[in-house]
Amino acid sequence: MSDKRNVTCIICPVGCRIEVELENEDILNLSGYRCKRGLQYAKDEVTSPKRILTTTVRLKARSAHVLPVRTRAPIPRSCMKDAMKELKSVFVCPPVKMGDVVLKDVAGTGVDVIASRSWTE
Ligand code: SF4
Repeated sequence: MSDKRNVTCIICPVGCRIEVELENEDILNLSGYRCKRGLQYAKDEVTSPKRILTTTVRLKARSAHVLPVRTRAPIPRSCMKDAMKELKSVFVCPPVKMGDVVLKDVAGTGVDVIASRSWTE
């Protein structure tokens, strides 16, 4: 028996609504996308959804105690909890530059967590 899922593409501001027809988790048909990027997004979204993780880690600075960070690329949503657990033990000492790696290979995803801003003191 087939199942239909609707996915709103978030790759660009157009926000196409893509209908995905599935049977036992196999994709039978996709419709409503306007480009290949949206097609790939919808496939990933129903098989292994991924997101950029944005959060903060502890910072040992005089003027602030947290540093905003994010994953360099999207990671599987199923790894978010483990990633947050690992990031709880990260402590960054300045100076740090935007883009510096604060944690390598978070939760075994192969994706690094990087600083979202610089901090000098
Ligand atoms: S399918 Fe293509 S055009 Fe539509 S929202 Fe996604 S990226 Fe934009």
